Amino acid sequence: MTATRDRTDSLFDGTGSRLLAAADVSQVSDDTLERLRLPRSVLKVSIPLRMDDGSLRSVPGYRVRYDDTLGPTKGGVRFHPRVNVDEVQSLAFWMTFKCAALDLPFGGGKGGVTVNTKELSLHELERLARGYIDAIADFIGPDVDVPAPDMYTNAMVMGWMLDQFCTIRRAFTPAVVTGKPIPLGGSHGRDTATADGAFFVLSTLLPKLAEQGRAKAREDGPTVAIQGFGNAGAQLATLLAEDGYRVVAAADSSRAIYNPDGMDVASLRAVKAETGSLPENAGEPVDPEDFVELDVDVLVPAALEDVITADNAERVKARVVLEVANGPTAAAADAILADNGVTVMPDILANAGGVTVSYFEWAQNKGGVRWTADDVRHRLRERMVTEGESIWALARDRDVSLRTAAYAQGLERISEAVDATGAAADYQRTR
Ligand code: NAD
Repeated sequence: MTATRDRTDSLFDGTGSRLLAAADVSQVSDDTLERLRLPRSVLKVSIPLRMDDGSLRSVPGYRVRYDDTLGPTKGGVRFHPRVNVDEVQSLAFWMTFKCAALDLPFGGGKGGVTVNTKELSLHELERLARGYIDAIADFIGPDVDVPAPDMYTNAMVMGWMLDQFCTIRRAFTPAVVTGKPIPLGGSHGRDTATADGAFFVLSTLLPKLAEQGRAKAREDGPTVAIQGFGNAGAQLATLLAEDGYRVVAAADSSRAIYNPDGMDVASLRAVKAETGSLPENAGEPVDPEDFVELDVDVLVPAALEDVITADNAERVKARVVLEVANGPTAAAADAILADNGVTVMPDILANAGGVTVSYFEWAQNKGGVRWTADDVRHRLRERMVTEGESIWALARDRDVSLRTAAYAQGLERISEAVDATGAAADYQRTR
């Protein structure tokens, strides 16, 4: 069976329409596209979970290793009631390009457990995390597949997973998971990595856009709207405010507020930490549905997927969209934004600070060393600036969007590695 760029029976149709756009402007062998058509392996497990009331439940779980051409597969474990094998597979596919675009020595993987953690006690959650590792232990390892936190899994869950893996292997193996607590081998800077990375990307690319008249310069105090005031969004708000941006709008799951004079980020964070919601009185209320249409210079979706769609893209007024969330822009909205002169700094680059510091954590564990917080931040900045600059250059040289350029950069790296062990053309020459 031969892979072609227009085959219609593969994942490339759904998750991968953007990848196909990148393949059209890249030097990529057909071998690579054929290789990426199917996941390396897909593991389905059931986890026997003893509940606090003595009953037993079988909980479905998954681990997908999509592609390991560039290194051990890497990706988070999601505990969520909607998790299914297709979702995990799509996310593993997407991780493959994110790692490659950032030049990390990892392939793409993902895991998930179909469960509502809000219905579990802490004891039940611990038994579930340990049971998941019991079920997938033969499938993971520092040189094979390295899980990390994702939705509804946190540092403590990673600590349980590490402990369980070490018990099974009879060896302390910290590099088997990332996002661990620091005393167990976690890295400084992991908690702020996504916001730091997004900030470095914006700081690198905004001056280039401003020079071309496509965005307001940082010196002119651009206004920002941040949708999602959690780990990533709130920390990014602090960094932006400290750097001279004006945070004029913010939204969380309970409310959206707008204040054209700018808001005090420290007090927004303090109220959010104390009450769980943004303050009511820091600005005027905005209909959450209209949030992405606010008249600001930089829009930061940092909560949910698919918030900019073919239905509302025409009304997005920001000149720059910094995608901190995964998949906040529907594929159908890409062309509308581009036609209207809106530059999207794509998720695959803009939120890659998290996986980059996960790589630093893995590297520290493998090397038996610990880096300081300053060292981690310095290395992160270097990586985000270097990869952001090269994606910018690729977009300019091939006249494509930053998103297509980011995918192309990842795809070409995978292709070079695939072809290094012989491409179809080599074999056909020697036949
Ligand atoms: P989080 O759970 O800490 O925060 C999410 C925030 O979004 C909360 O403030 C919540 O109130 C808000 N929210 C939920 N529904 C909303 C709605 N309908 N409208 C507006 N706000 C809403 O999550 P996080 O870790 O900050 O992640 C946010 C996004 O960034 C997710 O898409 C995640 O996949 C992505 N991301 C996070 C990381 C990371 O390291 N944290 C890394 C890569 C990507």
